[in-house]
Amino acid sequence: MTTITLVQGDITREHADAIVNAANSSLLGGGGVDGAIHRRGGPEILEECRRLRASHYGKGLATGRAVATTAGALDARWVIHTVGPRFSHEEDRSELLASCYRESLRVADELGARKVAFPAVSTGIYGWPLDDGARIAVETVRRAGAAVEEVRFVLFDDRAYEAFAAQLR
Ligand code: ADP
Repeated sequence: MTTITLVQGDITREHADAIVNAANSSLLGGGGVDGAIHRRGGPEILEECRRLRASHYGKGLATGRAVATTAGALDARWVIHTVGPRFSHEEDRSELLASCYRESLRVADELGARKVAFPAVSTGIYGWPLDDGARIAVETVRRAGAAVEEVRFVLFDDRAYEAFAAQLR
């Protein structure tokens, strides 16, 4: 059984076996949490992302998938990069967002990670409504049946923290 914990803060300061990055399909870095992870984690992460891109993901990593690299200078062994869907009013992309959490946990299990830190994937630049993003995150982790011992959601601000806390209540 995976225990879910919540904390408000900066995920780049978190100690964990694996830190999940809300990446974009290029794997070459971006804004938000992606930019913060590459800034604090240093160039090793980007170098490995570039190599992965060249060897496996020439067209980019598909939405809903996840792949691990070194965590560079972060206080973790791995960064797991997952590509969240952009929110759409026309199309229900919930399954893709759920897939980010499931695939990240699958990769974490493969690596043998025990503690995994997640940001609220897609709820920033990609525009996913926070309450719904929190619901999908918590439900998916609960149902995943992963071997990971602890999933810690690291929420950047009060609003995100409250949205996740409401889901756990
Ligand atoms: P996306 O493109 O998947 O929406 P963002 O990085 O824009 O990715 O936002 C995802 C979530 O991560 C948002 O809730 C945002 O507030 C949060 N966030 C941004 N920086 C950090 C950080 N350093 N630590 C934890 N969460 C962060």
